[in-house]
Amino acid sequence: MQYVVMDLEWNNVYSIKRSGFMNEVIEIGAVRLDEQLREIDTFSHLIKSQIGKRLRGHVRALTHLTNEDLQSGTPFTQTMAQFRKWIGNGPVTVLTWGDTDIRVLIENFKLFNGFDTLPFLTYYADLQKIVQAALHLSTTQQTGLSAAAAMLGIGEDGLSLHRALDDSLLSAECLRRVFSENLVEQLTLPCGEEFYERLRFKAYIISDIHNPNVDPERMRCFCDQCGREAQQKSDWIFTCRAFRAKFFCPHCKRPLQHTVRFKQYYDRLDIHSKTVYLEPPKEEEQASKKAPPRMETAMKL
Ligand SMILES: [Zn+2]
Repeated sequence: MQYVVMDLEWNNVYSIKRSGFMNEVIEIGAVRLDEQLREIDTFSHLIKSQIGKRLRGHVRALTHLTNEDLQSGTPFTQTMAQFRKWIGNGPVTVLTWGDTDIRVLIENFKLFNGFDTLPFLTYYADLQKIVQAALHLSTTQQTGLSAAAAMLGIGEDGLSLHRALDDSLLSAECLRRVFSENLVEQLTLPCGEEFYERLRFKAYIISDIHNPNVDPERMRCFCDQCGREAQQKSDWIFTCRAFRAKFFCPHCKRPLQHTVRFKQYYDRLDIHSKTVYLEPPKEEEQASKKAPPRMETAMKL
């Protein structure tokens, strides 16, 4: 299997057609590696912008590209046709640092070419995930390319960071340092329907207590002191992106507040819960607290 490590630069622009902001790709860089991870070829193209006529300040500062550069490239559709040809038909795994570049590319393909899949993509792997796994970093954090390169002892001399080709060369070096065929294979995805479904899926917090994934078992509250099950003393309310209710431990005479948050991902559900001691309200406040909970947020499980 050969590898193509790809990187994009983009400009945040307002699209009238989509009546909203989007990221317009302005540069693509890629390096092709053989089975032994030796560099075979590179691809580097500026893309002539069709929506944004001016670069945003932070993009200009980051990339050192100019508004003139933006006009000097070839349009997106032509550049991508060349890129597809460059990738060829052999088995290739495309890698990017994090999957944002792939998402942005799909967005651009949809707008300029009218379809929402990438014709050059047959296998894909997120290089950030590979490096994080190899370095035993937590999957909840997102390590930047520069930070990862530093951790791997890779110097950035002679590279212009935040330019597409140099970022892809640096990414390729990260791949070389951590490479194991098993690990890469494990994290390589075939780019069929499920691949795009997964990318399109937006993780969300469950706010409806009747959602079948809200497991009543996970809503039970156990005393933080004695570990016995506490009694529920209020309806559940949804607040601060979580379900919350008051409980009471009869053994410790301890008022408790139990909070449970359900976050739905494409293929997993994250459940976070915590139980804290609930300080009883002071005498003078109690009078004003008599109002019943608001109807729209009070829920029975
Ligand atoms: Zn207790």
